[in-house]
Amino acid sequence: MHSPDVSTGIAPPLPTIRLDIDREALAANWRTLDRLSGEARAGAAVKADCYGLGVETCVPVLHDAGARDFFVAHWSEVAPMLDLVPPEQLAVLHGVNTAEEAGYAKATGVLPVINSIHQARLWGETSSGPCHLMVDTGIHRLGVLPDDLAEDLIRNLDITVLMTHLSSAEEKGPTNADQLALFKAAKEQTGARELSIANSAGIGLGGDFSFDLTRPGLALYGGTPSPELEGCIRQVAFPRASIIQVHHLKPGDTVGYSREFTAQAAMRVGTVSLGYADGFLRAWGKKGWLEHDGRHLPLLGKVSMDMVVVDLSHTPDATLGDWLDLPYDLPTASRTSGLSQYELLTVLGQRMRS
Ligand SMILES: *Cc1c(COP(=O)(O)O)cnc(C)c1O
Repeated sequence: MHSPDVSTGIAPPLPTIRLDIDREALAANWRTLDRLSGEARAGAAVKADCYGLGVETCVPVLHDAGARDFFVAHWSEVAPMLDLVPPEQLAVLHGVNTAEEAGYAKATGVLPVINSIHQARLWGETSSGPCHLMVDTGIHRLGVLPDDLAEDLIRNLDITVLMTHLSSAEEKGPTNADQLALFKAAKEQTGARELSIANSAGIGLGGDFSFDLTRPGLALYGGTPSPELEGCIRQVAFPRASIIQVHHLKPGDTVGYSREFTAQAAMRVGTVSLGYADGFLRAWGKKGWLEHDGRHLPLLGKVSMDMVVVDLSHTPDATLGDWLDLPYDLPTASRTSGLSQYELLTVLGQRMRS
């Protein structure tokens, strides 16, 4: 953060872009999802650096709120997590495909999610320790096929949680019931101690989908993938960027690359320290805006790598150094930008967190 640079001994100036995390909202969202999970307890998907919001900030909050089951995707995500939670509370969704990965899992005590016969063999050769098992009931990404559950390599595993993942939980189509039926059949074939099927949208599908453990991700961080979650999930991520230059355009002056915007009249505009390198993609296009004390400042012209220009005509008090809010209520932001709520979080750039 703002610790002195090792070579100069001088602390860098304050950044012109930042990501504020509402820790209370994050904790409240976990508690809400835990309550909506009924008898089941809610875990937490913390992969991709907590969907871009930062493991170091978010995981202690989730742990304090009561979460005890954390999921990352890669083994490279494990080390920062081990400073924050005990290894037995952490699982790696991609499982173990190499002896090196299996050895690392054994050495750290973090649970692999076994996804194939190959992975089961590797894990069996490396450790007799516990693991989770992913059964593929129709998404066809990772997971053992139901037909493979009878294989000795699978039967010999010490399975803590048997899980599956819904392809269409947000859409409420018939495939959810199909996957549920396949999952119930699969459970009879394994000695798994616990069962888990629901992601955030799955929690909205109701009690049949809760089992022992739910695995929300998006909704922890303020996303509402289904109507059941609207109204009870709070915004967590508040990206902000500041005005780094104010100037006055004459009629006919243009703004940005390709001169896409032309001033029709004299107007005051602000250049903001925010660009697509920060995850503010060009998809925000002509419909996008930033906010100054709740007032909308329309974007002018194209988004650059490190800058956007906004219209300050109606905000005479907005000035150099002022912080502007990105409109990051996720359902609204998704409709405006055409990006999914997931993408809106995970694209947020490193400079926001520095
Ligand atoms: C990412 C992920 C989750 C969380 O999904 P959300 O839709 O973000 O709630 C749960 N389970 C698995 C297997 C995942 O990969």
